[in-house]
Amino acid sequence: MTSSDLYDIVIIGAGPAGLAAGLYANRARYNTLVLEKVGVGGQLLSYEKVDNYPGFPEGVSSFELVELFKAQAEKFGMQHKNADVTGLETDGPIHVIHTSEGDMRAKAVLVASGCTPRKLGVKGEAEFTGRGVSYCAICDGPFYRNAEVAVVGGGDTAVEEAIYLTKFASRVHLIHRRDELRAVKILQEEAFQNDKITIHWNTVVEEIRGGDQGVSELALLDVVTRETSSLPVPGVFVFVGLLPNADFVPQQVERDPQGFLVTDDAMVTAVPGIFAAGDVRSKSLRQIVTAVGDGATAAFNAGRHVESLSHAG
Ligand code: NAP
Repeated sequence: MTSSDLYDIVIIGAGPAGLAAGLYANRARYNTLVLEKVGVGGQLLSYEKVDNYPGFPEGVSSFELVELFKAQAEKFGMQHKNADVTGLETDGPIHVIHTSEGDMRAKAVLVASGCTPRKLGVKGEAEFTGRGVSYCAICDGPFYRNAEVAVVGGGDTAVEEAIYLTKFASRVHLIHRRDELRAVKILQEEAFQNDKITIHWNTVVEEIRGGDQGVSELALLDVVTRETSSLPVPGVFVFVGLLPNADFVPQQVERDPQGFLVTDDAMVTAVPGIFAAGDVRSKSLRQIVTAVGDGATAAFNAGRHVESLSHAG
């Protein structure tokens, strides 16, 4: 390791929170590096269009929004690197970030690593992942032109993606375990008005079945009547919530019961010098607009932390 590996701030994750943090940290002239496992954009790229980010009254494509975030941060000098972060250790005032591309050191670390889709946990799910079981409608939706597909879940993601899938599928079966959707009302209204969507209330998937050709049917259970049934579909999209990408974060950083990182309103975690922003953080509203606010706040306070270290010594 050389002294050039020592950054003021290393930002882990280049979704909306990480890109906003990159903009603020670079504009404040901190020596900053953004690390991203796959590609810039994070989970945002798994959606087609964004309707609720202020400043775009007609909505904006997710891809375009990511490009705009990136261009603005790069204008102020943001550097990013593809690397998979495997561990994070604190050595006095310095944090060591273990990555697939070697170790990096930073005076402050900003964790903006987002979330991963939660699995349903039923028989057949793992076996048929990539062969009919999907967690990304924009990636796999076009494979189901004129076919019937199923979507599992009742939150914003499930309902939004069920609506999106009606562009391709002849019918979308939305399977929800309760008699009421969790999604925001405007999405519910849109789903109710879409005659290509059939909602299966109080229903859970017990098993995903198929063969060499991939998924062929779902075994369903009505949790009220206890009736079982089979739904013949070649594809099932699972949107049953999110799990934080925080395995690499040391256990000294407090988590909430769901495993999301706990911060104060300055995005400070329980470990000095480690900040968290965006979906990985314990919070009430996971949106692009709240992620960018977190990113800006975390970058500002990470900068103050860096300054406090130089004043101390
Ligand atoms: P979510 O809000 O946690 O909803 C998960 C859904 O899956 C719930 O309806 C839940 O049922 C159901 N579920 C959970 N475990 C299940 C299981 N084992 N079997 C069957 N169903 C199960 O997750 P999300 O929809 O992915 O949204 C995550 C966050 O992103 C939210 O904060 C959301 O507002 C935000 N988001 C926003 C937008 C937008 O603003 N356009 C779009 C996408 C996501 P219950 O309802 O019964 O709990």
